[in-house]
Amino acid sequence: MKLPIYMDYQSTTPVDPRVLEAMLPYYREGFGNAASRNHAFGQQAHEAVEEARAQIARFINASEPSEVIFTSGATESNNLALKGIAEMYRERGNHIVTSQIEHKSVLDSCRFLESKGFHVTYLPVNQEGLIHLKDLREAMTQKTILVSVMHANNEVGVLEPIEEVGKIAKEHNIFFHTDAVQSVGKVPFDVQAMEVDLASISAHKIYGPKGIGVLYLRKRNPRARLESIIHGGGHEGGLRSGTLNVPAIVGFGKACEIAAKEMNAESKKIFALREKLRSALLERLGDIYVNGSLEQRIPGNLNVSFAFVEGESLLNEMSEEVAVSSGAACSSAALEPSYVLKALGVGEDRAHTSIRFGLGRFTTDEEVNYTIDRVVKVVKRLRAESPIYQSESGREFT
Ligand SMILES: *Cc1c(COP(=O)(O)O)cnc(C)c1O
Repeated sequence: MKLPIYMDYQSTTPVDPRVLEAMLPYYREGFGNAASRNHAFGQQAHEAVEEARAQIARFINASEPSEVIFTSGATESNNLALKGIAEMYRERGNHIVTSQIEHKSVLDSCRFLESKGFHVTYLPVNQEGLIHLKDLREAMTQKTILVSVMHANNEVGVLEPIEEVGKIAKEHNIFFHTDAVQSVGKVPFDVQAMEVDLASISAHKIYGPKGIGVLYLRKRNPRARLESIIHGGGHEGGLRSGTLNVPAIVGFGKACEIAAKEMNAESKKIFALREKLRSALLERLGDIYVNGSLEQRIPGNLNVSFAFVEGESLLNEMSEEVAVSSGAACSSAALEPSYVLKALGVGEDRAHTSIRFGLGRFTTDEEVNYTIDRVVKVVKRLRAESPIYQSESGREFT
């Protein structure tokens, strides 16, 4: 076993060797520009891009490959979805509904749109991290043009009820966008069954390369249209100009093909490891709390608060052996507690003690065992050094 152990799969994932293998020819002899189809180099690149587009479309059950638009990543996909719909349909209305726990790229796009005259409703979540459908229904007005609710949250791994969100949006003839970055490849995601009109996905969260993403844009029943945010040569049907990153696109396609075949078995395996980690920590350490629903959750995420232990200290103490994220510093250099945990109603002190464990394809049983031992040891030591723990242990921690 090699140290440090990687337990931060919600942040990024390593490229699967099979994905890298599929990409390499497109850095070598297959280097052509997919837009230069008047010669063999361009033609070969174009065909590779179209095959990847079809692989991705199949994986999310899009009705046709042309509904898949390549971007530089899900940050851009989220920007394009929100700003592109807002610009295209601003005659129809100026209201958007989203949730308080979205990724920054959704929240900050909403803030930008607010500065341009749009109104945004940020739906709250309950202690489990789930939105209330009643709040969603009540938020919609005649002026609502878009609902954007993520499928799985990146910090707590909670799965929002997007099938119901899709239904409600459809009943009101409002477009539905979902940030599916953390769910695709881990749990079933189907744009038809879930009545999704736009979806953002990212290759590097599913064992593909960084810097490549997709925006799914529905073409029929209903047709969703967008105003582009990047103008130029008219690539991707004029919706996203710029020379296509052919090797990365090929890798993204391959990553989806692998996920389609292996997702079910892999998710079972990862779930078992996550549960092992969770139950061992619960058993061997008192005063620990899981943040977010355990039932509605992707298999590879465990977000826990260790009472009386500063998350950052725990993270630093283990950093040479186990790579994890803390719930405190993830959105900025300053040690602010995460806005996601805050939205769940997690108190400031408990948010400061939270750690996100992200398990994935290459996580082994041995690594989980090692992590359990290290965490238990470090938490016990930090607690022993904590004067508050000495005086308050045994008391209810809120
Ligand atoms: C990582 C992530 C993004 C951003 O994706 P990039 O491809 O890194 O820009 C967006 N949303 C969620 C939920 C994410 O986890």
